[in-house]
Amino acid sequence: MIITIDGPAASGKSTIARKVAAKLNFYYLYTGAMYRAIGWWLVKQHGGDVEQIDSTSIDVIQKLVESGGIKYTYSAQTGEKIIVLGNDITPYLKTAEVDDWSSVVSSNEQVRHIMVKFQRDLAKDHDVVVDGRDTGSVVFPQADCKIFLTASIDVRVQRWTRDQKQRGNFVSQSNVENMLNERDERDKTRPVSPLIIPEGATVIDSSNMLVGEVVDRLLQVCQK
Ligand code: C5P
Repeated sequence: MIITIDGPAASGKSTIARKVAAKLNFYYLYTGAMYRAIGWWLVKQHGGDVEQIDSTSIDVIQKLVESGGIKYTYSAQTGEKIIVLGNDITPYLKTAEVDDWSSVVSSNEQVRHIMVKFQRDLAKDHDVVVDGRDTGSVVFPQADCKIFLTASIDVRVQRWTRDQKQRGNFVSQSNVENMLNERDERDKTRPVSPLIIPEGATVIDSSNMLVGEVVDRLLQVCQK
């Protein structure tokens, strides 16, 4: 069984997806972590520019993915991890900087092509909860249950800021709204796999809902 959760930045997708995966004993596939890893790797390891992805960068990414140099693992006990060339880079992927690199790198058609194959391969032989921007529309259009999770911009700004604070990153709240809007705009307007409400998806607006309420609502929708 495949459950997809798409939606804008900081709408709570990962939090909900992890809880649903734990409850149903499903595999959690966090596709955003993969775009984050590619952005991080391109900039940090290759001194590359995510704004100018050329054929050399595509070759480098393709080789990394096809040679098994990038690994995604998930278990309910350890959560999700991204290992690149033997190094666990998961702790570096949630900074504002990487937010931006992932959003830019993910608008490249060839990068998406490579990553969608990687994601589909990972989902083989598992029941999965997957979250991202195109999971119900492009990666798994045949999913058994599709959710579009959203929340007001004010609530998303609060969630993003709280999340960063818990990681020890203090970011001025005044910039957060612009930053989230910019990422969402890029995701929604890119020509390849833009963020949309996938056909057949149920929209859940979590602005005034507790985490447990969203999980219950999702399970109710998906059990139908
Ligand atoms: O979900 P998360 O915010 O971690 O994703 C990071 C970035 O990766 C998003 O801003 C988006 O641009 C991109 N992304 C995507 N398609 C996905 C998942 C993430 O384009 N399926």
